Amino acid sequence: MIFKLSKLPYDMSALEPFISKRTLELHYGKHHQTYVSNLNNLISETKFENADIETIIRESEGSVFNNAAQVWNHTFYFMSLKKDEKFVPQGNFAETISRSFGTFEDFKDTFTKAAASLFGSGWVWLVKNHNGLLEIIQESNAGNPLLKGLKPILTCDVWEHAYYLDYQNRRSEYINAFWKVINWKVIEERFTYDLI
Ligand code: MN
Repeated sequence: MIFKLSKLPYDMSALEPFISKRTLELHYGKHHQTYVSNLNNLISETKFENADIETIIRESEGSVFNNAAQVWNHTFYFMSLKKDEKFVPQGNFAETISRSFGTFEDFKDTFTKAAASLFGSGWVWLVKNHNGLLEIIQESNAGNPLLKGLKPILTCDVWEHAYYLDYQNRRSEYINAFWKVINWKVIEERFTYDLI
């Protein structure tokens, strides 16, 4: 299978001023593209040549795993974004956030702290567990919750390349900005339907 860079459902300046056009051009156009190109090169003429990306993530290790998981994680991240400062979750999703964390603000605080405290490069995830409750987990490097049998709902990329052009070393400012560009409709759909 030849993997392609997923098309963004918004233009490069759509997330400004929270995530700049320059950052998206670098993060999506260069970093994400490089993971896609590396993956295609690495799996060529191997047992993964015709595998889907989830199978590669579950069954590979080393460079193949790192590039496959980074492709998956970045697609999941970029498809979560939309400038929408006001919308908050509703219905069953909102109720499950309450049962899992307390208030919506408690959920945001816990996620924000996990994103701020992750050492080095990685991803913070909101996941649905086997009991139907939500959890927040940290994953280093290319880590992906599918390997733990957890269903990913939302992720924040805290690799420096996600924010360095806009916020330099101030990761907490990037995390605050991240809350302003979440497409909650997509997040609720992931929670509600078995899309993965
Ligand atoms: Mn990234």
